[in-house]
Amino acid sequence: MSDYIVLVKQVPDVSQITDNAFDPETGTLIRTRLASVINELDTQALAFANYMRRISNDDKAKIIALTMGPPMAEEVLRYCLSRCADKVVLLTDRALGGADTVATANPLAFAVRKIVKEFLNNNGDYFVVCGMQSVDGDTAQVPPQIAEELSLPCIAYVTGAEFKNGRFEFTRIISGGSQVVAAKKLPAVITVAKYEYPLFATFFGTRWAYKTEVIQWGNDDINATHIGVQGSKTAVIRVFPPGKSTRKCEQLSNVNDLAKVLVESFKSDNGDSAKAGQSQAARYVLPTRRASLFERNFEGTIKEQQDYKVLTNTLNELGIKKVNEIDDVTRKKILSAVEERFHKRALEDMINGFTLTEPAFKGEVWVIAEHNEGEVHPATFELIGKARELADSLEAKVGVCLAGYDVESMTKELTTAGADNIYVVDDKLLKVFDPTARRKAIADAISTYWPQIVLCAATPQGRMLAPMVSYSVGCGLTADCTGLDIRDSSRRGDIGLLLQTRPALGGNVMATIRTKNSRSQMATARPGVLKRIPPDPSRQGKIINHKVEFTEDDVSLKILKTELGTGDVNFDAEIIVSGGKGVQSRDNYEQLVGALCNGLSKKLDAQIERGASRAAVEQGFVERAHQVGQTGTSIVSKLYVALGISGAIQHMIGVANTETIVAINSDPNAPIFKQCDYYVVGTVEDVVPKLVQALEEL
Ligand SMILES: Cc1cc2nc3c(=O)[nH]c(=O)nc-3n(C[C@H](O)[C@H](O)[C@H](O)COP(=O)(O)OP(=O)(O)OC[C@H]3O[C@@H](n4cnc5c(N)ncnc54)[C@H](O)[C@@H]3O)c2cc1C
Repeated sequence: MSDYIVLVKQVPDVSQITDNAFDPETGTLIRTRLASVINELDTQALAFANYMRRISNDDKAKIIALTMGPPMAEEVLRYCLSRCADKVVLLTDRALGGADTVATANPLAFAVRKIVKEFLNNNGDYFVVCGMQSVDGDTAQVPPQIAEELSLPCIAYVTGAEFKNGRFEFTRIISGGSQVVAAKKLPAVITVAKYEYPLFATFFGTRWAYKTEVIQWGNDDINATHIGVQGSKTAVIRVFPPGKSTRKCEQLSNVNDLAKVLVESFKSDNGDSAKAGQSQAARYVLPTRRASLFERNFEGTIKEQQDYKVLTNTLNELGIKKVNEIDDVTRKKILSAVEERFHKRALEDMINGFTLTEPAFKGEVWVIAEHNEGEVHPATFELIGKARELADSLEAKVGVCLAGYDVESMTKELTTAGADNIYVVDDKLLKVFDPTARRKAIADAISTYWPQIVLCAATPQGRMLAPMVSYSVGCGLTADCTGLDIRDSSRRGDIGLLLQTRPALGGNVMATIRTKNSRSQMATARPGVLKRIPPDPSRQGKIINHKVEFTEDDVSLKILKTELGTGDVNFDAEIIVSGGKGVQSRDNYEQLVGALCNGLSKKLDAQIERGASRAAVEQGFVERAHQVGQTGTSIVSKLYVALGISGAIQHMIGVANTETIVAINSDPNAPIFKQCDYYVVGTVEDVVPKLVQALEEL
């Protein structure tokens, strides 16, 4: 009999952002001005737990909801009680505030232990069920880190479950397809990526929810080891508004204009759109190589940066060129010159900072290689390109950690892509990707060689593996970075830090984050965000075999079925026409996508291919090999036409580097309209035939 502990979170409602939610001076979002709601994916996780209880015919199974947050987070627990939860626990304590993912996962895991002991009679047959990620943090790191703290298997990105032969079999999303797996032993953590059968509250349920006790615990009740700001391993050092999209986002009101745009976009050179999101930061130079020690690639709050500038200007005015020229008298002079601006303590910190020239972290810059059936994932090459740039500025080497079975054949390609050293962990038990076994291999290599930076792809595999690895080696991790730069940070003179910039709060703000209390700085980046460097076949690399002992117990999952897209699809074509769930049926997909492909091929001398969203593939409109996106194929076509596609981040990642994006969607508020160049509001059934005719008449 399985019980269920469902993790829920109260989050700001990023779907209802009004103008007054932004600070007029800084342009950043003020979180307190947004309404608070239950994280949508957590409602799906709750419904999923209820579904698991139902399909296993287990009336006695308990569902216990757990949240961590301020007292007002009680609201989300009442939501759970009114639907299906039997008991709810609120973990609330000021000491828990300001936590990053490590300092969130840790107390939650300790609370899970206490729930199991006190409410589940130490029953080891339970599932921790979580939403894949929350809309505010958006990292997907907390559930795998909870699994790591509790030493449990983690099944991420679950979309379905069946109860067969006394156990659950889960369908989950993987790169390139889907997989059916079961946990080898329980308990286990699962993260729900999609379960679209919401639970509704009954009148009786709502009344009961408001009468039932919400159990409250503080940290003294659970004795977690990493909590709050102190226990966090990352710190936000700057928040700023996101840059404007470089896409045109122009609405067209008739199909004749749309036909013209399709033809002209294909013929013109519109390469700039594709360059969105790339970091343009100047190359970092170590302090000892700079013309002046007072020159710092300084990053911090705007006030800190301004203070620093005031100090260097004052030093200039006083004619001071070297740190050892700053004696007590000069300090006094500087202080009186800048007194209005900052205090003695801040000045001391900055002056002491000048004496530091050694980077705060030491070691190589590593990339965790992702691969499948002897093929390296393209995102790994992109990360090596970035690692090369970072390592060159730090005068360090690039290492690649390659764990698997019989992987030697991939080492050459990794070297030509930019790696100096390849750390190979080779074992039969690593043949098929298992998160726990792979984590053991990589964590062991990291804690042996201690690279200063570790980069991992933000693919479904990497977004599960990296949090487990980082938690296991006790290091901070930043998810889905769009910018990775080396900078000196803080007035205390931290030299050569990896500054990790990422979108937060549903892309409404950008945050720059640094690692703290860690030996390695770890980050993930989404596929397509970084650029690979041209391969250099003359490069020579070193292979270092790193031995790790594995037993069958290190493998946590039974893989029952894997479905990967195969087929002859030419995604190098210049034009891709994709159909989404909005095309409604396989017949419509054939007719509409087919007709537009034909219409365009008659007009333009171009290679044209059909694409699809993941939802369209799941609906059976077209074979999986046609899927575009994070877990499908990333494309770089000249023209991308999206029919009935909403514009989910996982889809748009795959088309970020296309030159022109055109969208047709019946919803005037479709998110894709903010991420494309031209769009038409209308149904595909209506617009596409008219568009084909307009193309003919052009
Ligand atoms: C880990 C993970 C990986 C993923 N990887 C991918 C991936 O690689 N690729 C991918 O595509 N998705 C991926 N997804 C799924 C993604 O989150 C979205 O669910 C998916 O992209 C939605 O597809 P869609 O836009 O076709 O469907 P929906 O989001 O359902 O949108 C359908 C759209 O069609 C419009 N519409 C409806 N009727 C009509 C009509 N008659 N005419 C015109 N418009 C109409 C609607 O307004 C809506 O905007 C992934 C998800 C996860 C969790």
